Amino acid sequence: MELWQKQLSQSVVKVKDLPFIPESDEYRKKLEEVGENYPIRINSYFLEQIKGPNDPLWKQVVPTLEELDDFVQEDLISDPLNEEGDMPVPELVHRYPDRVLLMINNQCPIVCRFCTRKRKIGFPGIVTRETLRQGIEYIRNHPEIRDVIMSGGDPLLVPDKELDRILGELRSIPHLEIIRIGTRVPGTLPARITENLCSILKKYHPLYFNMHFNHPSELTPEVEKACAMLADIGIPLGSQTVLLKGVNDDSATMKELMQKLLKNRVKPYYIYQADMTEGTDHLRTSVQKGLDIMKDLMGHTSGMAVPYFVIDAPGGGGKVRLLPNSVIEHTEEEVVITNYEGKVFRYSQRNWKNDSANGSNKSTPQNQDMCQLPA
Ligand code: SF4
Repeated sequence: MELWQKQLSQSVVKVKDLPFIPESDEYRKKLEEVGENYPIRINSYFLEQIKGPNDPLWKQVVPTLEELDDFVQEDLISDPLNEEGDMPVPELVHRYPDRVLLMINNQCPIVCRFCTRKRKIGFPGIVTRETLRQGIEYIRNHPEIRDVIMSGGDPLLVPDKELDRILGELRSIPHLEIIRIGTRVPGTLPARITENLCSILKKYHPLYFNMHFNHPSELTPEVEKACAMLADIGIPLGSQTVLLKGVNDDSATMKELMQKLLKNRVKPYYIYQADMTEGTDHLRTSVQKGLDIMKDLMGHTSGMAVPYFVIDAPGGGGKVRLLPNSVIEHTEEEVVITNYEGKVFRYSQRNWKNDSANGSNKSTPQNQDMCQLPA
């Protein structure tokens, strides 16, 4: 058995094995009820990194009673992004024109309490060989699909041989240009990134990784080594972060995380406003919190370390990027903008005010398209 398999097999999956939990029988009983609704998994590597009950890593993986309170809130649902409504075949989401998300398993190295797919993760019999076969067949039959994101669950929990087979099948589809792997493994079970896994992955370029990091303390020496191994075989590495109350909802923590990622050749890609998922409300923040963090990042650290801040629109509208407002006034003659220090600047466009032959440049204070990308 390899080290990562041992760490996974030694996961805490029951309330009785959780450290730092109050001894009261009544509390533990209620917590067990939470675990029956939403599985628990903390692999032994990740557990070793947790220093105590206030640790930001602890808050991401240890169940709390609030998860059941959320059931009474009407605006929280089990599938807030309506993924099930965009599945032409089971466990494949086709929402955007040229790309799909293919779930290749529904197990993870840890079970995150805030997960958008809380309804699926850790339950048996959801992703099967047959759903996977149908998903790959769907991609093969749709030439407009040029990009697939392998997700789940975590694709890297699939054994090497099976992963090799799946990647090989996908790569054999002529119109599929890009394969992406969405994974939390490098940051939570770094021993999984083995030489053998790397020798498989590097056969399937262009292959991209969308990883998931929420706190700078996740970047341990083991994790840094795993990222280096992946970067060294030419995989472009990106990271997504979920904005979480009590974990990373302050600018200093986010800045440290983004800078540490970049130092490890991982490009910060998204900060997500937490989805409106049943059982996760206690970990959500206001949207303003995210905008404030973006304001504190932009200009205060290199642009490469500034991700997009997005809301995945409830009901399946897709990702919408948000920015703190930097446009004070926008007329046909000029645009008045403010920079990261709060200083005001005027950009003249007087000579171009009739530059609207195609009708697309109707300058109004509402038209702020030019300012929608971070510096
Ligand atoms: S690793 Fe990703 S898919 Fe798995 S529980 Fe965490 S957020 Fe959900």
